[in-house]
This record gives sequence, C-alpha cells and structure tokens, in this order.
Amino acid sequence: MLLAEIISVGTELLFGEIVDSNAAFLARELGARGVTLHRKTVVGDNLGRVTEAVSLALSRADLVIVGGGLGPTDDDLTREAIAAVMGETPAEDPELLAWLRGLYESRGRVMPEVNRKQAWLIPSAEALPNPVGTAPGWFVRQGQKMIVALPGPPREMHKMWREQVLPRLPLPTQALVHTTIHTQGIGESNVAEILGDLTRQANPSVATYARKTGVDLRVAASAPSEAEARALLAPLLEQVRGLVARWTWGEDSATLAGAVSERLAGRTLGVIEAGSAGSLCTLLADEAAFHDAAVTQDHRRLITLGLTPVTLKNEGLVSEQAARELAAGAREHLASDVGLSVVLDVSSGQAHVAIDTGAAQHTAAVNWPGDAAQVRERAAVAALGLAFRALGEGEGA
Ligand code: ATP
Repeated sequence: MLLAEIISVGTELLFGEIVDSNAAFLARELGARGVTLHRKTVVGDNLGRVTEAVSLALSRADLVIVGGGLGPTDDDLTREAIAAVMGETPAEDPELLAWLRGLYESRGRVMPEVNRKQAWLIPSAEALPNPVGTAPGWFVRQGQKMIVALPGPPREMHKMWREQVLPRLPLPTQALVHTTIHTQGIGESNVAEILGDLTRQANPSVATYARKTGVDLRVAASAPSEAEARALLAPLLEQVRGLVARWTWGEDSATLAGAVSERLAGRTLGVIEAGSAGSLCTLLADEAAFHDAAVTQDHRRLITLGLTPVTLKNEGLVSEQAARELAAGAREHLASDVGLSVVLDVSSGQAHVAIDTGAAQHTAAVNWPGDAAQVRERAAVAALGLAFRALGEGEGA
C-alpha cells in the first residue's frame, strides 16, 4: 500500500481567495490509481509552517505531494522548506540555470536575477522539467519515501503530474472499477436507509452523493486485475441497482435530459417556463432532440399559450392548475407531441411542474427555499424528473 498526503502552499488558498482545485485533482488521480490518501493540508507562505507540514506529512506517509510556492519570489518557500526537512543545503544547478536562461533568451529577454532560485537543487532532489512555465518541480527521495514538489498553476501542475511524476511512482498494481447510478425523486437519507449496512463495507463499496440532479450512488471495487475488480463489483452493483430501480434514471455519463430524450422515443417536446429564467431549457439545451420552447413571464403571452384568465385570477400563476394548462398549451400551441411546463416563484421557492403526454397529465410540486439559482435549477430538475417518470412505465395509466 502506498500512503500519500497532499500539502497545498499559498496564503491566497488559506484565506479562500482561490479554491484549492489542485488538491482535488491530485486526490482524484491518486484514488484512481489505488494510492491511499489520508490527509490534505493547506498552509500559507510561511517557512516555519511549510517546513513543519512537510516534516509531519513525511513522518506519516510514503509520498508527500507539495503544490505551489515554487515561484521566484521571497514568499515562494517550498524549496527552502523541503531542504530544511531533508537537512540539506540548496545549491544552484548549472544545467537548470542554463535551461532557465535559455527560456528567457528564446523570448528575447534577460532572466531576472530573482529567478536564479528556480535553478536550485538539493542532493536528494531530481529536477522535474516544466514544459509550460519557469518553475521546475522536485522529486525527492529519502529511502522508500518520496516528496514531490509541483508548481501551483493548474495547467503546469496537471501536465507535470502526468508526464513527470506518474512514471516515477511505484504505483500499486491495483485496478479500480466503479459505476455511478443516478437517481431522482428520493432524498439522500432515504437512500441510506434503503442501502442499510451495504454502505459500511470497504471493498466493494457503495457511497451516496447529493447532486443537483438527485442522489448518485457510486459502487466501486478494487482488485489486482480489472477482471477481478469487475467480478467483485458485479454482485453488489446488481443488488444496489435493484434497490433503487424505482428512482434510477441513468448510469455514469448519462444526463437527465438525455434520459428524457430517450423516453420520448422520437416524440417532440414543447416546453413553457414562467419565472424560471429558462433554466429548464438550459438543462435541455445539450440534447439536440428537443422541439420547441417558450420562456416568458408575460401573463398576456401565457394566456395565448393556454393559461386561462380564470386560473390566473383565482389560483395565480404559480399553481398546479396553471402548470397543467401550460403543459397542455405547450402541446397544442407549440405543436408538440408532449408538453412540459414549470411555473415558479423564485422568492418563495414554490414551483409547480406538469407534463401532458396527450394520454395523461401528471404534476408535481416543489417547495425548497434557497437562492435564486438553486431554486430555478431544482424546479427544472423536478420537471425533468417528472417527465422521465411520466414517460416511462405506466404512461397513460
Ligand atoms: P509560479 O512559478 O508560476 O509562481 P508557484 O509554484 O509559485 O508557481 P504559486 O505562486 O503558489 O505557484 O501559485 C501560482 C498561481 O497558481 C496562483 O496564483 C493560483 O492562481 C494558482 N494556484 C496555486 N495553487 C493552486 C491550487 N492549489 N489550486 C488551484 N490553483 C492554484
């Protein structure tokens, strides 16, 4: 087992001015390769604290990956910190210095003196070339343990990780396979209840994630070969699929809009949205299959699209009846086989969605307060979830 820790260096990361996307990237990369990650640390640009973080991580892990702090200025302290942990003194490496100077000269510039420290090395470090920036990385070995230092800019970090670091790592020969099941219309705690003890096992494993399109269930297994990992995964995957089948709309790269498109099976869909700023149409936009859409708040226009004045007067725009009339209106006035509508009041988070398949009408109500973007997105997802269910089994019943 290879045990890793990640340390992100930068005061702007610590104070939340930028989000630590590098650590998220590295964590996914490590997980996919069977490396065990126990901790991520963020420290500001302070020599004492970076040194302490690296030293502590190295005492616990086999692989310590340090991101950032490799720039040329006084507050770029990663090299100094690693040198202190190793008890070694950095010295300018003539080859690295020549490479750096060449980089500037090829652009018709003279290398500023401050950049000299980017040519530093310590005896236990090997320089990792940076093909897209000026900061070389370091690959440091201490017995079986390793410290890797990579520059902070994500473009540089990702490229060097793939091209320079991965080939040098003694990666476990474990294969990891996983399938993600997407559900809609059931909450995460209900999913957890249905899964019971299954979520406690480590390999194969099942974990739940609340996403904007509903709850995702990730079923994963690792084993020495891919075939063995798949064999280990299969029985649990079948069991989980069975348990959540009622709410499932797809797996892995499927999208909710794509799943609705499949169930339409060639029929056209007309959409009318009121108050949701086109968020349903935005969700549908990636699927070419969709027919026609009207996005409006204007009551007169909604009346021409099928909303009756009496409903508007007695029940209001954000009502089940208005949603039904507009779903029927979407079929009729947008000349579609199936009509889908959403009526939303952003300030209260109250929404009604309706579908008219020609054979039947179905409605659902949504009431989740939140910020405007969340409320719109949830209403749009609820409309697609309703469409997926209504167009599926039992349609027309
Ligand atoms: P450079 O030589 O380019 O200065 P560096 O190794 O010194 O590289 P930093 O100065 O720490 O890197 O960061 C440079 C920029 O990279 C930051 O301003 C930020 O935009 C981005 N960055 C740094 N760390 C991260 C991180 N963990 N996640 C996302 N972006 C980051």
